[in-house]
Amino acid sequence: MPFRRNKALFLFFFAMLALLNQPLCAGQNSDMKLRTVVIDAGHGGKDPGAIAPDNKLKEKTITLDVALKLGQRIKDAYPDVKVIYTRSKDTYLTLAQRTNIANRNQADLFISIHVNSVKGNSKPRGTETFIMGTDQSHANMEVCKKENSVILLEDDYTTTYQGYDPNEPESFIFFNLMQNAHFEQSVIMASKIQEQLRKGPITVDRGVKQALLLVLWRTTMPAVLVEIGFLSNAADRKQLASEAGRKEIAGRLFTAFSQFKKQYDSHSGIEIDTTPSSASTEISSEKEKTKPASTTASDCWMIQIFASKKPVKPGAPDFKGVKQYVEIFQNGYYKYCTGRYDSREEALKALPALRKKFEGAFIVHVDNSNRIL
Ligand SMILES: [Zn+2]
Repeated sequence: MPFRRNKALFLFFFAMLALLNQPLCAGQNSDMKLRTVVIDAGHGGKDPGAIAPDNKLKEKTITLDVALKLGQRIKDAYPDVKVIYTRSKDTYLTLAQRTNIANRNQADLFISIHVNSVKGNSKPRGTETFIMGTDQSHANMEVCKKENSVILLEDDYTTTYQGYDPNEPESFIFFNLMQNAHFEQSVIMASKIQEQLRKGPITVDRGVKQALLLVLWRTTMPAVLVEIGFLSNAADRKQLASEAGRKEIAGRLFTAFSQFKKQYDSHSGIEIDTTPSSASTEISSEKEKTKPASTTASDCWMIQIFASKKPVKPGAPDFKGVKQYVEIFQNGYYKYCTGRYDSREEALKALPALRKKFEGAFIVHVDNSNRIL
């Protein structure tokens, strides 16, 4: 990517941060209760999403049905929670329109529902939940391309998405910090979803993952994108095609929502659930899934203050006076991290002070060889 474009992207990023600062604060309830949820049924209208091998069953139909079922469960159980659907019919919406619905309504939570699919490989199966993040393992990039490529249907996608190229998701890294303010809460919701979904009907748990997903990009609230199974896998497809299967999946999502709401309402949504079941759902990339989820004595948590394509010299203004930091080169970026904490909770305590200087600062889990997990 040429330097001039990099610079323009950076400038745009900071301009957007400034713009978003206001709605970020105004969008939250003064008493911090979860009152509005936006449920986004992926795809729709001229965009069918994934299609089953028989050419009949479509992702857009499944996502709409599960979205409506989930919304109904929430309405029945919590009459004072406002449930907003991005679509309640087979209609086409751009990704930006979906985000705008959530932001305009000052939603407290955004749940985007999708169905996975792999061309020419019927083996992959299971559920996975994505949050906006910079983990760029190959598998996640594929989901990125699949879920973001819908913008090619839009007449002027280069303007709307500021030059984002679905075939070049790495260009997106300059924008991903938008979601950092809600990163922790998004992780909590994503973990709860996976904890529930693995109970069935599709029991293969592919975990909580990070990806640069356009539909989550500009949301100003905790936001997750759940892939509820693979249309390309026969066993998953059987569940997705059946009314009972979809009902059960919606029920699992509802339980996750209830648990998240309970925690959000009682702890202002900021506390981290440290129960063993949720702690085992580490954010991981595909290749790191084989590692044990428990932490070793030398693991630690740090706070990433910024990242750059090129190394930044010690003492540069970018560090804003921070002298103790480590430089971690990973996925093509020099990531600058400070602090060293034994637990995520410890790091969380230090985060607000650093956010005053570095608005996009966020917590990273680092192993003993200084790799971000
Ligand atoms: Zn999709």
